[in-house]
Amino acid sequence: MSAFEALDLGGVRLYWLDGGGFRLDGGSMFGPVPRPRWSALYPPAEDNTVPLSAHVILVEDGGSWGLLDAGFGHHLSKQQRRFYSLERESQLERGLAEVGVAHAQLDWVVLSHLHLEHAGGVVSGDRPRFPNARVWVQRLEAAAARDATNRAHGVYGGALFDMLHAAGLVVEVDGECEVTARVQVHLTGGHSRGHQATVISGEDGAALLHLGDLLVTSAHLPPAWVSAADDFPLDTIRAKREWLARAANSGWWVAFAHDVRATAARLDRDGQPREVRPAQHL
Ligand SMILES: [Zn+2]
Repeated sequence: MSAFEALDLGGVRLYWLDGGGFRLDGGSMFGPVPRPRWSALYPPAEDNTVPLSAHVILVEDGGSWGLLDAGFGHHLSKQQRRFYSLERESQLERGLAEVGVAHAQLDWVVLSHLHLEHAGGVVSGDRPRFPNARVWVQRLEAAAARDATNRAHGVYGGALFDMLHAAGLVVEVDGECEVTARVQVHLTGGHSRGHQATVISGEDGAALLHLGDLLVTSAHLPPAWVSAADDFPLDTIRAKREWLARAANSGWWVAFAHDVRATAARLDRDGQPREVRPAQHL
């Protein structure tokens, strides 16, 4: 057993699981930001790639269990492996086993969006990975996953997603929606048209904001530091301004989707990280 400690929000406990390790070009991850500035904060390798983790958050809410994003899964094509420079398989199964949660015990999965490093883990072969979990996604994102003309089509698991649909497990929502009394999703757009954020609320105002790929690493905290992979970067900037200010003012945790060094932080009023959770998986 590792020395992992869950993040306790009061009434809700959060565990970080490892959905896989990969590398992408640093220049593309930091879009308009000059290399000397981002590379000082998030150092690249010699080939200019940066190391990334597909963090998955397991949520314990009373007696019920859910997941925020699901990592890669184990079914990537050769081409997809190459695109992501996948260097570590998802360890989701091992993490769930360490907490002692069976796949069938999961009640819900929220997917920030349907790119493979977030959504791949909801299927296994031709079956749903979590047979009793409803999968919450924005209607706009489900449409994007089926659109073969989308520039990110290669990293969408369109056919896999259709299989979940056929199994009756998908809940498509429009905008704001309550998944459980403590879990709310909000349409943000930005990274993809149907990208969503999630707020997990504990007790006494404690909460965690999951901004998905609107907040790739801790170095992406400045609202204008956006990725070149964002389809609608101005929407990303707008959503980050609004949500990060809310998190800073309320003392919420904010989660980083792919930072290899940190999984979450609490922010000062000026948006600087004041308390950082080092990246550690179960
Ligand atoms: Zn991502």
